[in-house]
Amino acid sequence: VKGLPGNPFGFYNKEIRNRVLFESELESEIDRALRNQEFKIFVQPKVSIQKENRIVGGEALVRWENPRKGTIPPGQFIPIMERAGKIVLLDRYMFEKSCQWLHNYLAAGRPPVNIAVNVSKIGMLREDFVDFYGEIKNKYEIPDGLLELEFTETVLLNDDAMFNRLVKRLNEKGFVCSLDDFGSGYSSLNLLKNLKIDVLKLDIMFFRKSSDISRERIVISNIINMAKELKIKTIAEGVEYVETVEFLKSAGCDVIQGYVFSKAMPIKEFEQMLIEKEDE
Ligand code: C2E
Ligand code: CA
Ligand code: CA
Ligand code: CA
Repeated sequence: VKGLPGNPFGFYNKEIRNRVLFESELESEIDRALRNQEFKIFVQPKVSIQKENRIVGGEALVRWENPRKGTIPPGQFIPIMERAGKIVLLDRYMFEKSCQWLHNYLAAGRPPVNIAVNVSKIGMLREDFVDFYGEIKNKYEIPDGLLELEFTETVLLNDDAMFNRLVKRLNEKGFVCSLDDFGSGYSSLNLLKNLKIDVLKLDIMFFRKSSDISRERIVISNIINMAKELKIKTIAEGVEYVETVEFLKSAGCDVIQGYVFSKAMPIKEFEQMLIEKEDE
């Protein structure tokens, strides 16, 4: 793929080539990175908005601290890890590290806090999925109700009976189950109707600048109301503006996760933040 000088496509070819190169380098570095613990847990706080703004927990989000390439965001390597068949290893690593942290945090006498981790499609389809997560939860003696598993909307379209059985088994083991990226797919209302989840995470897309904010707000409030009647908690993700917080509060949304409160931070900083808030 070589661009001729003056050929406008040359530029793109070079960009594509660099990207392919970068990606194949990353792929070849995955095993080492897992061995050397280069994947770090960042946590983005989840803030309950109905009473005073209180941090009720956080979502664990991976960052790759690559010794030569610097910090790489998940969008750049998760698809590669999926293709390379390594995503399950990463998810389990993130989950176990989160449990380890939570164990120590609770052992120090701190009040309960909720930690959510992401589960990839391949991960949730594995035969040993529920047993593995249950065993790690027991190993670190995490009480019921504190660990939340986030599943993305797009992966569930095919088989809701299977998904509901999974949620039931996970609930029995004390896990909270949430539907991530809700509203980003096509058949969201069918999902809401059919899936017996505990938490709905309203996709970041809802809170991007919209050409018609009043129409958008009608849709969002009605989703929140439907969820409430179905006994499903709602979390709004990707909220950046105070006015949106005010609207969501009046619409009855339970929790907000977004830059308006905080970006994801290293888990140690998250811990510091919890301790400071607690002592306030
Ligand atoms: P997600 O699960 O939907 O996570 C939310 C993403 O939105 C995070 O991006 C978060 O930093 C970002 N975000 C939160 N609030 C705001 C906001 O107010 N404005 C903007 N612009 N962005 C906001 P991040 O950390 O880059 O993660 C991207 C995706 O990578 C995640 O999307 C998730 O699908 C995936 N991911 C992250 N960690 C893991 C993991 O351990 N396992 C798996 N399987 N996927 C992961
Ligand atoms: Ca998520
Ligand atoms: Ca999401
Ligand atoms: Ca997403």
